[in-house]
Amino acid sequence: MTNAPDTEHPEMSGLQVYLRLLSYLKGYIGIFLLSILGLILFSSMEIAFIDLFGYTVNAITSLSGETGSVNVPALELGKGSTTWMATLLGGEDALSDTRWIIPLIMFMIAIVRGVGFFVGGYCMAYVTQILVHNLRIRLFNKYTRLPSQYFDTHMSGHLISRITFHVSQVTQAATSSLKIIIREGALVIGLIGYLFYLNWRLAAIFVVVLPIIGAVVGFISKRFRLLSRRIQSSVGNVTHVTQEAVSGYREMHLYGGAEYERQRMFQASNYNRRQQMKMAVAEGLSSPIIQMLVAISLSLLMWLALDPNVLANMSGGEFVQFLGSAGLLAKPIRQLSEVNSNIQKGVAAAGTIFATLDEFEETDLGTLEKPRVNGHFEFRNVSFAYYEETENVLNGINLEVTPGETVALVGQSGGGKTTLVSLIPRFYNHGDGKILLDGIDVNDYKLDNLRSHIALVSQNVILFNDTIYNNIAYGALSKCSEEEVREAAKAAHALEFIERLPDGFNTFIGDDGVMLSGGQRQRLAIARALLKNAPVLILDEATSALDTESEHHIQRALEQVMKGRTTFVIAHRLSTIENADRIVVMDKGKIVEQGSHDQLLALNGRYAQLHQRQFTDEIGQPV
Ligand code: ADP
Ligand code: MG
Repeated sequence: MTNAPDTEHPEMSGLQVYLRLLSYLKGYIGIFLLSILGLILFSSMEIAFIDLFGYTVNAITSLSGETGSVNVPALELGKGSTTWMATLLGGEDALSDTRWIIPLIMFMIAIVRGVGFFVGGYCMAYVTQILVHNLRIRLFNKYTRLPSQYFDTHMSGHLISRITFHVSQVTQAATSSLKIIIREGALVIGLIGYLFYLNWRLAAIFVVVLPIIGAVVGFISKRFRLLSRRIQSSVGNVTHVTQEAVSGYREMHLYGGAEYERQRMFQASNYNRRQQMKMAVAEGLSSPIIQMLVAISLSLLMWLALDPNVLANMSGGEFVQFLGSAGLLAKPIRQLSEVNSNIQKGVAAAGTIFATLDEFEETDLGTLEKPRVNGHFEFRNVSFAYYEETENVLNGINLEVTPGETVALVGQSGGGKTTLVSLIPRFYNHGDGKILLDGIDVNDYKLDNLRSHIALVSQNVILFNDTIYNNIAYGALSKCSEEEVREAAKAAHALEFIERLPDGFNTFIGDDGVMLSGGQRQRLAIARALLKNAPVLILDEATSALDTESEHHIQRALEQVMKGRTTFVIAHRLSTIENADRIVVMDKGKIVEQGSHDQLLALNGRYAQLHQRQFTDEIGQPV
């Protein structure tokens, strides 16, 4: 899996990607056009310069024709030029009176060129930086709206590298390469146009060559994109392996996994290297091939231009202009062919980013918003499977919970307890059946609103690399007062250890709270849930990492908190749930027994079995 290319996204065509990127410039079209204008201005000044140069040559030769000091017999001279400058300045003969005009125009061309360069470059940078920023923000915002399933099935390394690596590839393509494409592209078009203007018969050779170059470029671009996608996905793999080795370093050391991880990294990195080398081959070949085609056409052009008949019809200046512009073509074409690989890297990356942006988001079709719910739940024949093709994890669950009731879910691990409670805040959307909250289908609530009524301490506590205070008062809870945060910490028995820390609430707890013990982490998570003060409380193995003593304390605190709230408690230690209003025993996705502790013991069924086994384990001998 590690070194397989990221093939999940169907290939978007280059054109689709360009058009979509353009759509991101809505509202900035003016600046974008201004930048194109600036770049074109820059390029046209290059052509103006050759034009001026040819004009000068003609002027000199026409002067020399008069004085006889310069003699170019091979060229028929002073035939009345049709160049821009001639139109502008009124014929080369004018030069004898106004010698200062050529240097002046040269200087003006330089100024306009400079202005074009700055305006073009600045506006392009402005627009592309906006584009990249928008892309990154939209991608991240998308991550905040993707459903649980997406995160279950995608490697986090890939999701991270899309934000870091893919976006930077687009940046590179957009900032430097796009500018070159427009500036040099305009120059190529301008030069060819100018050649046609000077002598369309000769220039017609480009009509034959350009489609061939176009086809070659198109073919190579496809190859670039394919290789780029592989490279980009392999960077995802490199990130992924690194991330796992770094966060799992203890397991790696203890289970002798270092060699295995090194191998995985070697493979991921080597795959990247091999694709990079293929890219280097393609890059190395593409530019010379294109330039060879250009060189062939230029040689042909030269051969034709040197035909005495052709020569006879051109002035010295025109000849300089023609050959000068033909010669000038080589550089922009080389630059264009060189940046093409960068552009295609950007296109490939943008394609993947767009495909991610098009992923389905969490369905949120509900419109109902309630300021507060009572917490009455009804599960009606609820079934659920994680994936269409897999077996149901929950089967025909029927359960009614009255407001304020505490329901304990027990049963073998893998029985579906966590799954059941994760359907309540719609982390996953249930399949058949209905889940009603206060008589209304949970799907009819607006997702944000539904979740605002639920506090959850999940099986895997997730903490942020921030202070203790900010971890408790996380997200929407940051509005709570310091007093409330303190109270919540106290109720969760977290205050006792927080106060012993040197910085108290302001202590930073490291990545995912590594500086805390398992029990401390759980207490922070409980404090966070208590601070939320929601009418529905879900505790999924919330006290499993606590010692019996602390658990006992928290248990009592929680009992206070559970009053007036609908609470779902999942616990392995049955001693913690004996006082629940109702105990629901689950097995293989079904509810097999329910009732109070005493009722279930009297029933002498599955619960009684579980209870006896655990009691035996704790005491060490059968009763
Ligand atoms: P419990 O909490 O009772 O131990 P779970 O609800 O976590 O059980 O798991 C029930 C079943 O669902 C298990 O067989 C498990 O493999 C499967 N399962 C749990 N989470 C996922 C998931 N995110 N994707 C696919 N299958 C899952
Ligand atoms: Mg579980």
